[in-house]
Amino acid sequence: MADQNRKAITYLRSEKAREATFTVWPFSSRQPCSIKKMAEAGFVFTGSYKDPDSVQCCFCTKQLNNWEANDEPWSEHLKHSPQCQFALMQKPQDLWTVGELIKVIEEYCCNEVNRKYEELEAEAKEHYEKMREMIRS
Ligand SMILES: [Zn+2]
Repeated sequence: MADQNRKAITYLRSEKAREATFTVWPFSSRQPCSIKKMAEAGFVFTGSYKDPDSVQCCFCTKQLNNWEANDEPWSEHLKHSPQCQFALMQKPQDLWTVGELIKVIEEYCCNEVNRKYEELEAEAKEHYEKMREMIRS
């Protein structure tokens, strides 16, 4: 889990790290949804040779596929995930201020803590219900 979090933070911080995940991609560097533009818009590659255009946002974890050559990664990202802090930036990461980068990483960490809390709470409720059933029978 710690390794997974570290990887996620690396992808949040580095466009180059996101770009390096694209082992295959059906579009050229001259097309609007080139690897560089996909990485710039926050996406990491999650597909395979059989599924060559699946990506996931490193911030909101939204998964997208069925890209078309003229799709614009930033606008597609915002269209499918309008609350995503990364997509809301609408500009390459090297134009972000340090404050903006910190804000995005902070929000990511808060979301992860909340997600983990909800997961543990649901697990605790499930155990509680099982214990109640055991006591009743
Ligand atoms: Zn996103």
